[in-house]
Amino acid sequence: MPQWIDGRALAQEIQAEVENEIGRLKEAGVVPGLAVVLVGDHPASHVYVRSKVKSCQSLGMLSEKAELPADSTTEQVLESVDSLNRRSDLHGVLVQVPLPPQVDARRVLNSILPEKDVDGFHPVNVGRLVSGNAVLKPCTPAGIVEMLKRCHIPIQGRRAVVIGRSDIVGKPLSLLLLHEHATVTICHSKTADLPSVAREADILVAAIGRPAFVDESFVKPGAVVIDVGMNRVESLEQVRRILGEKSERLEQHAQKGYTLVGDVDARRVFPKCSYLTPVPGGVGPLTIVMLMANTVKAARMSAGLV
Ligand code: NAP
Repeated sequence: MPQWIDGRALAQEIQAEVENEIGRLKEAGVVPGLAVVLVGDHPASHVYVRSKVKSCQSLGMLSEKAELPADSTTEQVLESVDSLNRRSDLHGVLVQVPLPPQVDARRVLNSILPEKDVDGFHPVNVGRLVSGNAVLKPCTPAGIVEMLKRCHIPIQGRRAVVIGRSDIVGKPLSLLLLHEHATVTICHSKTADLPSVAREADILVAAIGRPAFVDESFVKPGAVVIDVGMNRVESLEQVRRILGEKSERLEQHAQKGYTLVGDVDARRVFPKCSYLTPVPGGVGPLTIVMLMANTVKAARMSAGLV
């Protein structure tokens, strides 16, 4: 029988562990602190930053938000990161992407101190990830591996196919799965005959950014399917086609004017797989809790407790 993976429940489980860890750190006189730099008015970025700050507060961590105007220069963003790098009470620093086009995103991300780089995007942390010695791992990929382990889904010796090769999800996840001894294939927009490559997967990950792109023709019977996609779909017609006429989420669409849909066509894939992550409520909740876990790890390291 196929099963849904409840990302919210897993995130709560991990959050309770993170909370215990924070309690122990506080006893040692350390309050973990996270700084988030937000440049401009990107609406989705505001939502993400708000939920990161809220998570910090609910865990009793220090949080700091540095907001800069949309017309900021690279130098101004670098100055803001530099001042946060210097703060000994802030153990994690992240810059919310995307940045406005005039800002050199690579220079900004590279300016975060590697030991405070809780997103795991700094070249030093990427290098550690490649060599299998990562401490601060990118949050979404780390959350997916944690999810597989907590669901007792074996990784070693399995065929994993990751669709998507972004620096944020596809590439780092492929490396993490490789270090867990999966045999990994990375696919992208130029992959020939994608469905037949995907059908080789025991573990199939879709990190593409295209609503309901992966249908049952991509899935080997009994495969584990992880849907990373978070696509905002506004067309009611498209939402109906993907979710079905009877979906209770049509009401949400009427209220909000959009619905979040994954990269997997869940109605068609679910009957064929062994496990599937829902959207929303699958991978998403794990990402934020892994960010909190990374901040706590960074705080432990700065206190010399690792
Ligand atoms: P991205 O940087 O746009 O990368 C998308 C990848 O998908 C690229 O490698 C691209 O290939 C590949 N792709 C696009 N169209 C394809 C096609 N027709 N066939 C095969 N491959 C195709 O996106 P991302 O940042 O990795 O994010 C992917 C999705 O995950 C998005 O929906 C995003 O919102 C979501 N996401 C969710 C979370 C979470 O916490 N749940 C976190 C991060 C991202 P090329 O390299 O050849 O262009």
